[in-house]
Amino acid sequence: MSAPQFDNSYTALPARFFARTAPAGSPDPQLLALNRPLAERLGLDPDWLSGAGGVAMLSGNALPEGAASIAQAYAGHQFGNLVPQLGDGRALMIGEIVAPDGKRFDLQLKGSGPTPFSRQGDGLAWLGPVLREYLDSEFMAAMGVPTTRALAAVATGGLVQRETVLPGGILTRVAASHIRVGTFEYFALRGDNEALRALTDHVITRHYPDAQSPLQLLEKVVAAQARLIAQWMALGFIHGVMNTDNMAISGETIDYGPAAFMDAYHPDMVFSSIDRRGRYAWSQQPQVAVWNLAQFASCLIPLMGQDEEKAVEEATRAVHSFPHIYQAEWQGRFAAKIGLSPSPQAFDLVSRLLDLMAAGQADFTRSFAGLADGRARDEFLDRAAFDAWEADWQAADPDAGLMAAANPVRIPRNHRIEEAIQAAVAGDLAPFQRLEAALTHPFEARPEWDDLSRAPLADERVLRTFCGT
Ligand code: AMP
Ligand code: MG
Repeated sequence: MSAPQFDNSYTALPARFFARTAPAGSPDPQLLALNRPLAERLGLDPDWLSGAGGVAMLSGNALPEGAASIAQAYAGHQFGNLVPQLGDGRALMIGEIVAPDGKRFDLQLKGSGPTPFSRQGDGLAWLGPVLREYLDSEFMAAMGVPTTRALAAVATGGLVQRETVLPGGILTRVAASHIRVGTFEYFALRGDNEALRALTDHVITRHYPDAQSPLQLLEKVVAAQARLIAQWMALGFIHGVMNTDNMAISGETIDYGPAAFMDAYHPDMVFSSIDRRGRYAWSQQPQVAVWNLAQFASCLIPLMGQDEEKAVEEATRAVHSFPHIYQAEWQGRFAAKIGLSPSPQAFDLVSRLLDLMAAGQADFTRSFAGLADGRARDEFLDRAAFDAWEADWQAADPDAGLMAAANPVRIPRNHRIEEAIQAAVAGDLAPFQRLEAALTHPFEARPEWDDLSRAPLADERVLRTFCGT
């Protein structure tokens, strides 16, 4: 049994990148979930993690030798408004590890107590958002979508004051890094080119070793985000808070706050209670990504040579490559969802199907998954219109294998997650564990999991989600 061997690189950056901060600690920690397959993938010892030393680390009570807990500094545009200083207000990076395959990962405790960046917040998380992020991110990983991961969930034994008093929790989050567009904005805003250069070098070494320049870094981040957002769209995923501080430079999905997967399909779907104008609606996500990437691009301009006009032109061109990459990716993914290779005909069939789904509020996941076994028809209000579409679609000779590999049979449905959270708060972890098992096998249809692919009934529907902060 051995503790993680930390290998920290972020702490070698200048001191103004972070604040060294100790976790608050947990009065009576209880390990609710440990992700053993992830631990093994990272080269961590699951038996150590579930033992006294591991629980002490995962609850912030005692960090092992070599850990260095820091709150990272960052800024961000929140709903379009610049906030010059955000930073880790309820999370601490406890160190980096290098997995057996040579990949470097951050370990971060989320909900571990106040930091110098907490502003008015308490630095805590309650169990709800901890368990929600655990399930959402592990489902995304199982679907092959780049994402931060959940290594563990702990109940702290302490209480958190929200609208009511709730049990506290800590999520141990694993990320390729926690560097965000907002990390660049933090230094760009301060005119700190020396820090920007150090951050750019760090990011290139860590995530994009083939990039030869800040411009090439920008191009690679744009491409990574275009591919990522297309994957979100193909799952009916709505991130909910695509602020620049919640966009990771690595190209991983990060910060599942009010994130949700659609049940009934509508392109304007929004769940987040704070997104009143639908800025981050499902269909808006590619545009918002471009907006965020434009902020990233402007941070890099000071590093792109003496000729500012030329730098702006090159950076603009790089950002404008997004739609091209995104469209190709989106069309390929949606064509596959109906069993076809990308073509104008496939694209036309996809558009018609989505229009029919929107008109009748068809369930997004069930409509696609049901194409393979003829059950999709039940999802549509206008059966005649669906039948006409289906005849055209069948004539295009769809491939069943392509469809099966593109369409999960279940997604993390809001009402199921809420149910699991409520049970966990009442001391019953079984629904959470069952969901974890089912969501990490998203293509497997099993009779005992059938109820988890059912759409919510009218009175089960969750219409609003919350950041949980
Ligand atoms: P989010 O929108 O959840 O990504 O959070 C935006 C900012 O608010 C980040 O700087 C967070 O660290 C901070 N924050 C969110 N919740 C809390 C909290 N309970 N205590 C302190 N800071 C928080
Ligand atoms: Mg955030």
